[in-house]
Order: sequence, then structure tokens, then C-alpha cells
Amino acid sequence: MMRNFEGWLAAAEAMQPQTVALRRAIHREPELGLDTPKTIAKVKQALHGLPLQWKEGRSSSGLVAVLEGASPGHTVLLRGDMDALPMPEDTPLDFRSALDGAMHACGHDAHTAMLVSAAKILCARREHIAGRVLFMFQPGEEGHHGARFMIEDGLLDNPKPDAAFALHVIPNVATGHFTGRTGAALASDDTFQVVLRGKGGHASTPSLAVDPIPVACEIVLALQSLITRRVDVFDPVVVTVAELRAGTAHNVIPETVYLAGTIRALSEQARGFVGEKVRHVIEAIAAAHDCTAEIDILAGYPVTLNDARVMALVGRVITETFGPASWTTAAAPVMGAEDFSYVLQRVPGAMIFLGVCPEGQDHRLACPCHSNKMMLSEAALARGVAAHCAVAEAFLIDGFDHAS
Ligand SMILES: [Zn+2]
Ligand SMILES: [Zn+2]
Repeated sequence: MMRNFEGWLAAAEAMQPQTVALRRAIHREPELGLDTPKTIAKVKQALHGLPLQWKEGRSSSGLVAVLEGASPGHTVLLRGDMDALPMPEDTPLDFRSALDGAMHACGHDAHTAMLVSAAKILCARREHIAGRVLFMFQPGEEGHHGARFMIEDGLLDNPKPDAAFALHVIPNVATGHFTGRTGAALASDDTFQVVLRGKGGHASTPSLAVDPIPVACEIVLALQSLITRRVDVFDPVVVTVAELRAGTAHNVIPETVYLAGTIRALSEQARGFVGEKVRHVIEAIAAAHDCTAEIDILAGYPVTLNDARVMALVGRVITETFGPASWTTAAAPVMGAEDFSYVLQRVPGAMIFLGVCPEGQDHRLACPCHSNKMMLSEAALARGVAAHCAVAEAFLIDGFDHAS
């Protein structure tokens, strides 16, 4: 297998009109959740005629396209997610969402388009490839556990990847710049929902009722004390009560209060500990005031953990391909969550970020992912395409041998 460091960026730039056209077509027709038939049809059309085997499952529109190299070797997985968000788009783009209430505000349109172009480029170099590349096109990243369903459908078995790589675009990093870190890259995100029940009554005579409102207030504050007093400051956790609803009139003590929020952690240990303690604090405070609490803690995505050996390889490849100024080791994780974490639980790998700040904007002020005004620099996409190709090549040539 021959190295092609400079060649990847040139090939990605030559592919740029196709990358941009596909990204815009997907952007115009966003799809939500696990079922993304129009998007996967666009992907299949773009991949048509290439030397790829397609694997699909029953649970989602997910597709794994397998490129068998000319000779045997390792297997590397590259991933792109395909789904959009349930929100209106408010951008001036002429290819903005044609659907009310759905928008590609997380850049998954760009992820899919970059992965398609990487597949085309790597297929063209098939005779130089020793080993196998899996292109994982997954729906349902935005809270629908799409990666987990694809794993449960067996799409990552036979062949099982030896390493996995994903890119996420981010408008708040300079265009074309890469950043990432070993260990926790993104947080876990669990949701808690609580119905706190007292006894309704007249607001003038609280002693004849059991007022759940001050109890809810105590719970909100106690959860913050829990975080600062019981959690190791070097293994940080965020607990936010983001919904608090009670009452219908100024002179009525309501029977119930509804609270809901999120628990974010950077280790599975902290995640488990805090989940238990949140439950305990709510139950104990409710009981102390003669209220009851129905508590649901809904498991979201696990912590996204980047493998040290893969990150060493990725950092080296980005530096060699794009120059040392193109790479920054991120000091801190992102407290958002990613279902690529499910892949990384099974396969050593890494997710890194690619800066896509729109031209002429200050990246610190650019509208972030999930904003109704989120836009991205399409010029940066060629670097993402080249990064996919270069990381796959480096892993297939070197494995982990030179990566530590
Ligand atoms: Zn998102
Ligand atoms: Zn995303």
C-alpha cells in the first residue's frame, strides 16, 4: 500500500463540486429520526457503480458500505450521520430546508456528503488498499440511538472493524482547523423526569395542604449542592433542572410539581454515582416533607471515549496531511453527547471536530450547531474528505504500530 498524503487533499478538492452538491441536496430535504429514506436514496445514488457491498438492517435506514481492498489487512470504519433536527431554519441560504420544522442544524448533511466523497476517492484507489474500509451511514443521531440500532442489527459484525473514526463539523472553530482529545471527548446525557406529589389546597391555609412547590425548590438547590459537595471536581458532572412546572392560579396550592432536566458526566463511574444520588436526594427531600416523588431516569448516550492509540495516529495524520498549524489538542471535552459513543464502546476509535466557521465571521461568535441560524463553510469540507481518506490509509498501513 502506497502513501498518498498530498494526494488526498488534491483528490478531495477535485471532488468538491460533488461534495457541495450532495450536501446542499440533503440540506434542502432534511429527515428526522431513524427513518431517512430520501437521504439514504441520495447516498445510494451517489455510490452507485462503485466496488462496494451494502449492508442494511431492519431497525433503521442505516447503511454500511464495505470496500474490500485489493489485498488483505485490517478493517477501518468511517462514520457519517444523516439525520436533521426538529426545528425551523432561519438562514438566507437558497438551498435552505424546504420542510417546515426540520433543519440540518448539526451539520450531518455535511458529514454524509464528506463520507460519500471519501468513499468515491478510496474506491478509486482500491488497488492500493490492503484491508477493508467500512463506510457507516447512520440515521437517528439526534437522540434516537441510531448507532446502537445499527450495532444491534449486526451491521458492525463480520467484518468487525479494528478502528473507527468520525468527524463532527463545528462553526465555532476556525475554518479547516481540526481539534480533538484523548479520553472523554463528549459527555453522557441522561434525562430525569419527576412528578412531585403533595396535597392540593387553598393558598391561604398551607397547613391544611401539602405544598409541593417549596419542596421542588429545595430539590433544585440540593441537586446543585450534590454536584459541588459530592462530585470530584476533576471528574465533573452537570445537573440542570431545565423544566419546572406547577400551579394554575395565585390562590391554589397545586397537588403536583413537574421537574425535568439533564445529567451530563465524563466518566461512566461519575454517571452511575450521580444518577443514583439524584434519585436519592429527590426521594429523601420529598419524604421529609410528606410528598411522594415518581422519578424516571432515562438513559441517553454514553460518554464518548477516544482511544489514546487512535488519537495519536489521527493527530499525526492531520499534522502530516494539513500541516502542524491545522491541529489543536482540545483542552476540554464538549458537554454535548454523541451516539458514536456506542461504536467506541466496541471499537477503539476517535471522533474529532472540523472547524467550519462561515467565511468572514469570527468563529467565537458564529451561530453554533443546533442554532436556527447555523451555517457552515463548504470550503472546509474538502479537508474533512481528505481527513477521512488519510486516517483510513494510515490505519490500514500502520495499524497501531506507529501510533503510540
Ligand atoms: Zn446535534
Ligand atoms: Zn451532530
